[in-house]
Amino acid sequence: MSPVIQNAAFRSTRIKAVYIPFCVNKSDLRRSIDALRALGIRGFNVTAPHKVEVCRYLDKLDRLAKEIGSVNTVAANGKLFCGYNTDGIGALRTLEEAGAQLDGSSVLLLGAGGASRALAYSFASNARTIRIVNRTVLKARQLQHRLQKRFKLDITVASLAGESIKQFVEDADIIVNATSMGQNGRFDPPIRKNWFHQGQFVLDLVYRPVETVLLKVARSAGATAVNGLRMLVNQGACSFEIWTSRSAPVAVMHKAARQEGPM
Ligand code: NAP
Repeated sequence: MSPVIQNAAFRSTRIKAVYIPFCVNKSDLRRSIDALRALGIRGFNVTAPHKVEVCRYLDKLDRLAKEIGSVNTVAANGKLFCGYNTDGIGALRTLEEAGAQLDGSSVLLLGAGGASRALAYSFASNARTIRIVNRTVLKARQLQHRLQKRFKLDITVASLAGESIKQFVEDADIIVNATSMGQNGRFDPPIRKNWFHQGQFVLDLVYRPVETVLLKVARSAGATAVNGLRMLVNQGACSFEIWTSRSAPVAVMHKAARQEGPM
């Protein structure tokens, strides 16, 4: 989706650039970064599974990317590569656009991988509480410890298979699925429709399918469902702004994404 979204943005702003996807094997990451440097590339995105590993091969990380320990956007300053992470700000923008109130909110994050980490750091400045539920509870605990060193807020963790998830869902103002569950139309976590309620915002980072089972269930219970394609556009808009120092044509980018899959 990103080539569709970014190339639409370049066309509409008449910036002579093209966004091309490359498939990079883990063992080739370092050499691929060196190759991009040699080619004089202006910027690029990095996606799973390279977001953490890529930090080792960059010249500089911005403050947030350093704290999170993961990068999804790189901008070149001459031959120097600087890493950023736009996942968190993309998610916050998306929730705000949907009408969510972030200040003082109670946030439930499903997942403790790269995306969840980025979102947790962004939510931590505004939220009242953050609950992190993950299949591997140790990873959730590690994230909790990192956050507690930096922020003073109530952070609780639990296992995805545990009993506390029901209470967490019921209490949350904002629920984010930052796991890869839900891809291919499947949704496995033990979450029931009657745990959701009106006034809640449910963001699913999965964007294929755009309307996941989680979103359908949450909406049918009266919650506001927010899809991952919207976030993809917003985090892409932040990348565009880093690369070009210009405002992103967000409406154009949304339209391009919508044409690929309804939002
Ligand atoms: P990641 O670092 O690999 O983390 C994957 C997460 O999913 C971990 O918490 C993992 O739990 C959990 N998980 C995977 N399979 C599972 C299963 N079968 N049952 C339960 N939990 C499972 O990946 P990521 O970069 O954080 O990305 C997560 C998702 O967000 C992906 O679907 C990605 O496409 C999406 N994403 C979307 C956007 C957007 O703009 N919409 C941006 C970034 C990411 P364990 O720790 O137990 O392995």
